[in-house]
Amino acid sequence: MRLILLGPPGAGKGTQAQRLVEKHGIPQLSTGDMLRAAVQAGTEVGKRAKAVMDAGELVSDAIVNAIVAERIDQADCAKGFILDGYPRTLVQADAVDAMLAQRGMSLDIVIELVVDDRALVGRIVKRADDAKAAGQPVRKDDNPTVFEDRLREYYKKTAPLIGYYYAKGKLKAVDGMADIDAVTGEIETVLAATVGGPEPVN
Ligand code: AMP
Repeated sequence: MRLILLGPPGAGKGTQAQRLVEKHGIPQLSTGDMLRAAVQAGTEVGKRAKAVMDAGELVSDAIVNAIVAERIDQADCAKGFILDGYPRTLVQADAVDAMLAQRGMSLDIVIELVVDDRALVGRIVKRADDAKAAGQPVRKDDNPTVFEDRLREYYKKTAPLIGYYYAKGKLKAVDGMADIDAVTGEIETVLAATVGGPEPVN
């Protein structure tokens, strides 16, 4: 199963991706996590991405496309994967299609987590507080000021993907404002009805 989780920052993509990993045994491919790891490791990509990420802007399509193309060739992706935070632009969406087609694969489904923007800042602040309380590092871009920029980037560059996947018949919307377990339940229902549903008779 190859699926995309789509939604603004703070929509719960990462949380739901982790649950899908546990249930379906396929990896979560979070470009945000991969880029943060590159920053941490001080690689060339990390050096180029750091300032852009700290400002809440998007890293170049070329960089993220290359990271994902390399990642999906790893053995653990053979049975499928969950793309979390990628694609984020139409150029990236075209790149995924091409990447998968080259490998004789295709995308099964895109799940959009539909959320109320006004609740998102609160979630981001909570995520930062929770990380602090757990003694984990707090993401530099998890603060209300940078969050506004991340949300603007989302509407400008990522939200057009909703129409893009709708037109392809791949989009399923899920209420991301429900509690975490309910969102997981709704995602599983959608998956069972589409990807994991019974084989067509003919
Ligand atoms: P995330 O953890 O998904 O919220 O991503 C954190 C930051 O990493 C974003 O604000 C961007 O700067 C960068 N980033 C992550 N994924 C992408 C992507 N697909 N395209 C461009 N930039 C990305």
